[in-house]
Amino acid sequence: MSLFPAQTYAAELPPERVPLGQAACPKCEVRPIKLAGVRSWLCLHCYATECRELARQAGRGQKYAAAIVAGPECPVCGGSEVDANGRLWWCRPCELVQRVRD
Ligand SMILES: [Zn+2]
Ligand SMILES: [Zn+2]
Repeated sequence: MSLFPAQTYAAELPPERVPLGQAACPKCEVRPIKLAGVRSWLCLHCYATECRELARQAGRGQKYAAAIVAGPECPVCGGSEVDANGRLWWCRPCELVQRVRD
């Protein structure tokens, strides 16, 4: 039994219309959704996985490189004190903030 409602939120939905941090990620069904992936909202782990996959498919790997920053670990300090609100991703210790979408 899951504590979360089993519902997938389309990536087109703006952050205001998505229960960020409450609804479960449709891919892993474990972690809460934080950022919009290609098709649906995802947790930080699945979002980073999807970004890496896109970078691999793109071949050169440069086009999506910036997006990989917004993962479950900070690329600067390697810590996991990171969070996201749908538009921004940030690392608390580094005070690193990245805009993920407008
Ligand atoms: Zn997930
Ligand atoms: Zn950091």
